[in-house]
Amino acid sequence: MKIALIAHDHKKDSLVEFAIAYKEILKQHTLYATGTTGQRIQDEVGLDITRFRSGPLGGDQQIGAMIANNEMDMVIFFRDPLTAQPHEPDVTALVRLCDVYHIPLATNMGTAEILLKGLEKGFVDWRLIAERRQ
Ligand code: PGA
Repeated sequence: MKIALIAHDHKKDSLVEFAIAYKEILKQHTLYATGTTGQRIQDEVGLDITRFRSGPLGGDQQIGAMIANNEMDMVIFFRDPLTAQPHEPDVTALVRLCDVYHIPLATNMGTAEILLKGLEKGFVDWRLIAERRQ
């Protein structure tokens, strides 16, 4: 599975904690991230991750392009619901593309845990989900 990890600034600590807790599952997949989030996960968790530009500089859109090209299978995006973001239109566009292409999207830790546990235990037929996207 190709999984994108993104966190707004006030949520980066949470995402790092999450990635530490779920490292064994995450390391079995191909990981992508926006620039700063990816740097922190590399440095503090030790996971291999392909980093795009920082979110405000186009990283969210790069991940959106992968979704539109059917190259992304899951997005874990810890949004900060309490702080205005300069790139809010990009954030909205990314969430929208997940809905357009039926990409499992977690915008908080509770949902992210369910998604990764589902992945680990094989609860979901991901092949069917991928076929639905065609
Ligand atoms: P960042 O981008 O990982 O480069 O901080 C995330 C975002 O703000 O969308």
